[in-house]
Amino acid sequence: MNSIYNYTLEELGNYFISIGDKKFRAIQIFEWLYRSRVNSFDEMTNVPKKAIVHLKENFTMDLLTLERLQVSSDGTRKYLFKLSDGHFIESVLMRHNYGNSICVTSEVGCNMGCAFCASGELGCVRRLTLEEMVLQVLTVQKDLDKEGSRITNVVVMGIGEPFDNYDVLLKFLTVINYAKGLEIGARHITVSTCGIVPKIKEFAEFPLQINLALSLHAPTNELRNKLMKINKAYPIEEVMEAIKYYYDKTNRRVTFEYILLHGINDTKDCAKELIKLIRGMNVYVNLIPYNEVSTKPFKTTPHIEAEEFFSILHKAGINVTLRMEHGSDIDAACGQLRAKRMREDINDL
Ligand code: SAH
Repeated sequence: MNSIYNYTLEELGNYFISIGDKKFRAIQIFEWLYRSRVNSFDEMTNVPKKAIVHLKENFTMDLLTLERLQVSSDGTRKYLFKLSDGHFIESVLMRHNYGNSICVTSEVGCNMGCAFCASGELGCVRRLTLEEMVLQVLTVQKDLDKEGSRITNVVVMGIGEPFDNYDVLLKFLTVINYAKGLEIGARHITVSTCGIVPKIKEFAEFPLQINLALSLHAPTNELRNKLMKINKAYPIEEVMEAIKYYYDKTNRRVTFEYILLHGINDTKDCAKELIKLIRGMNVYVNLIPYNEVSTKPFKTTPHIEAEEFFSILHKAGINVTLRMEHGSDIDAACGQLRAKRMREDINDL
């Protein structure tokens, strides 16, 4: 049986037409699923009995199975979910003064193989389905419903490369943005990519005003090649050209993420190279403290040095922020909880 969460509004409307019902049925159901957030088809009181019977016979509406929940001292919550085929994914809920933001996973594992990242260690097992992406947001929202708060922001920055799961990503964005549903404003959604050039260009055509973030992490090809395998396929010049194209088409400023790796990409020379690379571009640089991974040699830049790096960029007129860590006491770095759970499985053998 297929999950009811595996459909966009459009697809569900077409489905109802195909069985001789009305397209409008899909709107009713979407409101029940994503706005009222009911737990069973029987609660959909304005849907005719015949349609309810059909839904029960043909669709499931199970949520994701929560395997583990970690709550950090700063309120960050990390959910480890078990998928129906036994794989694990993570979603992280962060509390900000402007609202609640959830970091969503797009793939089981990742093929991008960035040298510093825990998610890529075991490669990509498979892409997530629409249902699995949507249910991360819905399951966590249902948890927040208990305290009367809502998810205001979504970042697709969890495990995986979202542009490697492109079609599902676009459907996911449409579902969570739906105004009579979860109603996550497009400007409150960010998709982060390691720099898949053709998809950056394609994404410029997507009608919703979603924010795009690029994981840059190094200002030169020499260094980026060492840190991010993808740079060999799409070198910095091509990525910058795609970002300019994206900006010209959408008029939306792209965020460049830059993790500070001590002694690697946080030197004064790197700051100068970075200024040279992006000067004149309307971008925004987000400096991120590295969350150390036990199996990787990289170290976090001490805060005072991070501030120096920040101020070099700032003085050069670059729009830059230095992000604070969230949930560092609960393995909130990408892929860490999943990796830990998998190690436990291996140890249990
Ligand atoms: N594949 C996408 C999105 C997932 S990774 C991308 O590359 O953008 C989300 C962000 O977390 C990326 O910027 C990634 O480089 C960064 N990241 C990975 N491991 C990290 C770690 N241990 N500490 C801090 N950031 C990390």
